[in-house]
Amino acid sequence: MLAHEVKKWMGSGNAPFMISGPCSVESPEQFKSSVLPLIAHTDYVRGGIWKPRTRPGYFEGHGEKALQWVNALKEEYPFRFATEIATTEHVELALKHQVDMVWIGARTTVNPFQISELAEALQGTTIPVLIKNPIHPDLALWTGAIERCMKAGIHRLAAVHRGFHSYSKTTYRNPPLWQIPLDLKREFPNLPLICDPSHIAGERQWIGSISQQALDLNYDGLMIEVHHHPDQALSDPKQQLSPEAYVNLLNGLQKRTDHFEETLVQSQLEVLRESIDQSDQQWLDALATRMRSVKHIGKVKEAYNVAIFQPERWSTIFETRKEWAAELGLNEAFTSHLLRHIHEESIKLQTEIFQEAKESTNMHNE
Ligand code: PEP
Ligand code: MN
Repeated sequence: MLAHEVKKWMGSGNAPFMISGPCSVESPEQFKSSVLPLIAHTDYVRGGIWKPRTRPGYFEGHGEKALQWVNALKEEYPFRFATEIATTEHVELALKHQVDMVWIGARTTVNPFQISELAEALQGTTIPVLIKNPIHPDLALWTGAIERCMKAGIHRLAAVHRGFHSYSKTTYRNPPLWQIPLDLKREFPNLPLICDPSHIAGERQWIGSISQQALDLNYDGLMIEVHHHPDQALSDPKQQLSPEAYVNLLNGLQKRTDHFEETLVQSQLEVLRESIDQSDQQWLDALATRMRSVKHIGKVKEAYNVAIFQPERWSTIFETRKEWAAELGLNEAFTSHLLRHIHEESIKLQTEIFQEAKESTNMHNE
C-alpha cells in the first residue's frame, strides 16, 4: 500500500488519527453517554462487542444486540464505528451490521490458523482492518498476520501496538518494548502504525506520556479507551479515561516537528532505556529464581548430610558458564567476577540454612 493512500484513508492534517471509545459496549445508555462527548474529537469510535477475557466468568460483551444499539445511535449522530473480531461469525455479523472498521486482537494474532480464516472471511471487504501485536514479544507472528491479510487482498491495513505481556512485575500492564513496533515499521514502511496506550498502561495515569512518546516516534495514530464512568466499566476500568480527561489529553499532545533532531535522539534514548529496564528486570528475576533453588538444595544437603561445597560441581559451573558467556560476547574477566560473587552468595545462603537447622536441633535437645 502506498503512503499517500494511507494518509487518505487515515484522514489528513497534523492531528493524529484517533480511535476512541469504551473498552466494551455495555448498554445503549452507557454507549451514548460515553460516545457523544467524543464524536467531535475522534476519527472512529471504538467499542468491544465480543470481549475475549483471559479467564471465564467476566463480562464477554453483548454480541449482535450491541451492534443494533450502535447503529441506532449512529442514525441519530453519525460516526464511524470500529470493533474487534475474533471468529468468522464475528466477521459476518460485523459486515452485516455495516461496522466501519475492524481489528484483530492480541489474543488472536498469536494463532496463524485463526488469522487465515479471518483473512478469508474478510476477503473483498473495503473497510480498514487493524492488526494488534500478539500478546508476547514475537515480531514474526505479527508480521505473519499482516502478510496473511495482504495475501488475502485486504488493502486497507494498519498495525496496532498494544504492548507485550511480561511475567515479571512491571509498571505498565503490557510493557511497550518500542523496538518491536519500530522493527515492524522497518519491514512495512508504508503500513500505518497506531499506538494503543490504554492497553500498554493498564492505569490511566500513564496514558498521556505513552501517547506523547508514540507521537514522538512518528506513529500515525492512537487508540484510546474512554468511558463516561470509567470506574464502573465492566471491562478495563482502571485504564479508561473520562471524556473530559480524553479531550484534555488531546489538547496537551505536542507535535514536536520544530525540534525534530532533538526529539528523535530523545525518543531513541527512551527506547534503549526501556530495553535496559526490561533486561534488568529479567536478570534480577532469574537471579531470584536461582537463589530460591540454591536454598532448596541447601535444605536437601542438610537433610542428607551432604557437604555444602562440592568442588567438582563448582568447577563445572564455572567452566560451562564462562563458555556460555563467551558465546554471548561477554567479557571473560567480567563473567568470572560475577560468577564468583554469585557462588559466594549461594554458599552463604546454604551455610545459613545449615546453621538454622543446627540451632533448631540444639533447641530440641536442650
Ligand atoms: C481491546 O482493545 O479492548 C482489547 C481486548 O485489546 P487487546 O487485544 O489489545 O488486549
Ligand atoms: Mn480493553
